[in-house]
Formats: sequence, structure tokens, C-alpha cells
Amino acid sequence: MAALTVKEIVQATKGELIKGDQEALIHGVTIDSRKVKSGELFIPLVGERFDGHSFIGEVLLHGAGGILCDRSKYEAETIDEEQCVILVDDTLKAMHILAKYYMSKFDIPVIGVTGSTGKTSTKDMIYAVLSKKYNVLRNQGNFNNHIGLPLTMFQMEKDHEVAVFEMGMSGFGEIDLLAELVRPKIAVISNIGLSHIEHLGSQENIMKAKMEITNYFQKGSRLIVNGDDAYLAKLQQKEFEFNIIYIGVYGRYNYIAENIQDLGEYGSQFDLWIGSRNYSFKLKVPGKHNIYNALMAIAIGVEMDVEMSFIQEALEEFGGSKMRLNIMMTKEGIKIINDAYNASPDSMVSAISVLDKMIANRKIACLGDMLEMGEYTERGHYQVGAEIMNRQKIDMLVTVGSSAQHIAKGAKEHGFNEEQIFLCQDNHEAIEILKGILKHGDAVLIKGSRGMKMEEIVEYIQERS
Ligand code: ATP
Ligand code: MG
Repeated sequence: MAALTVKEIVQATKGELIKGDQEALIHGVTIDSRKVKSGELFIPLVGERFDGHSFIGEVLLHGAGGILCDRSKYEAETIDEEQCVILVDDTLKAMHILAKYYMSKFDIPVIGVTGSTGKTSTKDMIYAVLSKKYNVLRNQGNFNNHIGLPLTMFQMEKDHEVAVFEMGMSGFGEIDLLAELVRPKIAVISNIGLSHIEHLGSQENIMKAKMEITNYFQKGSRLIVNGDDAYLAKLQQKEFEFNIIYIGVYGRYNYIAENIQDLGEYGSQFDLWIGSRNYSFKLKVPGKHNIYNALMAIAIGVEMDVEMSFIQEALEEFGGSKMRLNIMMTKEGIKIINDAYNASPDSMVSAISVLDKMIANRKIACLGDMLEMGEYTERGHYQVGAEIMNRQKIDMLVTVGSSAQHIAKGAKEHGFNEEQIFLCQDNHEAIEILKGILKHGDAVLIKGSRGMKMEEIVEYIQERS
């Protein structure tokens, strides 16, 4: 982070400096009391389980340059004379205002990425493409909400030339808040699925909430969407002042992938058409969904004037995002597809089709609960089960958790044999089952929602070899 004076922070947040030197410099911002470094500003947030204000004494011992503190929680006795203390009415809001102020010092284009699934994968692909030409800032991992995004904004340095930000949400108004902070010039909506339907009630509402990413568009802004998505396809260019760029496989879009060759675990190849121009592309990352993510990254690359040969090279080199369909081979000769980061019905189906195309003796799907699906829980899980039989050739199914039992039901009612199915309560039970099943030559997909922590199963399979 480029240094800010305490005075600037006070002015930006409309706070009150009650102790410390207003000319002192702040070199970073943190909300984690354990990670605070000398000269940084600690912003205590009030969470569900902890209140950052209770760590103020400890943070100051570690040499924090200053703290923002909620006016109503200030305890004078924990703080000695030297430290900068700025009182504000609401520390989270103050962090947002400060992040916005900080970013206003840098006039660089921002790309915002939202959608139900594939945000991190798309953001990382865009980063790979743009990094061929620019110095790019992106959120680390999944830092995509009202806390992670401002923290990412503070990582901006003078030499950054473009930023690509993943923006997540679980209800109305959340993308609006993030878009207001970073004001994307180009926005991407990957698809409209069922994630977070518990809060929003319908896919129409999910689409409306995602469209908030365009709320602060300026002249020349563009929205890039997947034209093959049933909901995004309904967007009518004539209803918007900004340009919509469509990508996809099945229509007359601005960017079209044709002649797709699915190389299973080795990725894919396709021809890209932009109008009458044609280019060939190779991807290392598996699954058709990654072709959509790549089309988004190509469109961004073209919009940002990256040469096509560099875009091709970047995508050919792209190795995937952590815990998203990472394929590895154990010493015992078992292929693991680690997709334990998260799960929704759409991403389950994508991952199952990757498993289906693996070269392996037997294909085993170990699938856990998909959380936050509200009244769609039963139907969503059941449909994933039906998909296993309808379109795919999977040999065994191990379900983990109570909702995932409906995956088993869906599979069974579409012809999957009872002997091929194992129902487990938790990861521990699944590990015991897999111990008995897994053999050399098998491929196993591990996938479930973040709360299911299914990387525990991945770790077990890796360690036993
Ligand atoms: P989160 O809401 O957790 O931030 P995300 O939108 O960032 O999720 P990713 O982490 O990129 O999504 O991808 C999660 C999984 O979804 C991937 O491992 C893969 O199985 C699947 N996936 C990735 N891209 C797509 C896509 N375009 N369409 C459908 N499924 C996808
Ligand atoms: Mg993500």
C-alpha cells in the first residue's frame, strides 16, 4: 500500500483524532489482530463470533501505527500516549470510505467479475491474460465480499495498471455496494445459477442482484455475459445505454467457440470466432465450463488491447485456481479431482462431466451437501443425482451429509444401482468408506460446499499413499 498520512485518514473517514501525530504515515491496513505489522492501521470489525475491539490492547503491543475505533467502544486506559486513535461511528463503513478514498488516488480501469459460478476461475484467467501486458491487481483467493474487496483495494500500488475484482453476493444490494466502491469499467456476469437462492427466492431475482454490477457504469462501460445462459440471454441491448458483449457456443455472439474438442483431464481445444476472424485455442484446465470462462477472459483481453498471440499463450499456460478441479495423481495411482472449494448444482454438473471424461478404471464421485439452497435444497440435490445417470458414466457415488442423500435418491430413481451408492454422515465416515473402495487406476471427484470442508478427504487420500 502507498503510505497515507493519519490526517488523510481522519479527513476521508470524517473521524476524530483523539491521540497521536496527524503527520504520521500509515503503510497498510489490517482487520486481523494477529497479523498487524508495525506502522499499519488496525480496523476492528464486529463479527458474528468476535469483536475486533477486544484485541485493541494486543494490537498496540505489536506496534500498530494506529487504530480506527468505534466511538462507543473506546476504552482510554488500553491506549498509551504515542498511538494514533481515530474514532468513527462505524468501523466497517469507515473502512469502505477509506478504501474508496485510497483507490481514488489511482486512475486505472477496473474489471468486475460476478455470476453464480466460476467467478474465481474467470477472475484468475482474466488476470493471466492481462498480466501478459499489464501489472494487474486482483483479489487473493476468494476475497470477494464487503470485507475482502476493500482489503484488496488497499493492496493497490503505484505501478498497478489495471485491477480485476471478483464480486460475490448473497442478497440484494451487496453487489451494488461493491460496485459503488470500485466502479468497474468492464463487468462480467458468468451465469445465473441457483447459488444463494435461499435469500433471493428466484433466478430472476438472482439476475437482478447480479445486474447491480452495472449500477455505476460510466460512458464507454461494457458488460460481458454468457449468451448461452437462459437468463442472461434475455438481456436486450436496446434496454441499456452500455454495450453488451455476448460470448458462448450456441448462438451468433461477439465471441464464439466452435469445433470444441474435449480432451478430458488434458483440457480442451477450440476455434474462436470474432466476426469473420478465427483463432485456435488450447486450454490445460478441464471441462466445458472453462471454455466459457476462457471466452470471458479473451473478450476482456481484446477490450484491453492485449495481442491475440499473448491471450492464446496465457490461456494455454493457465493451470487453474486452487481447489477448483485440480487433478492430481497419488503414488498409489489414484487420480483425485480436488473441487472441494465449493459447490452449487451447476458446478456439480460441470465437475461430474469432467470426472466422466477421465481415463480411469472406475470413476467415483464423492459429493457433499450444497448449502444455502433453502427450499430448493431437495430439488437441487436430486437433480444432480439424476444428472449422474442421465448424462454421465459414473461407477460409484459416495454422498456426504444429510442433503446429499437426495443426490443418491436422484441417482437411484434414474437407474443407478443401490450397491453403487454409499451414504455417509460426515467426512470421517466417507474416509472410512473410501479406504475400502479406492484402488490403483481409480479416479475420484471430491466436491461439496465450503462448509463441508471436503479437503479433509482429499488430504486423507493423498497422505495414505
Ligand atoms: P464462490 O461463490 O465460492 O466464490 P466462484 O463463483 O468463485 O465460487 P469458482 O470457485 O471459480 O466459482 O468455481 C467453483 C467450481 O465451479 C469450479 O471448481 C468448477 O467445478 C465450477 N465452475 C467453474 N466455472 C464454471 C462455469 N463457468 N460454469 C459452471 N461451473 C463452473
Ligand atoms: Mg469465488
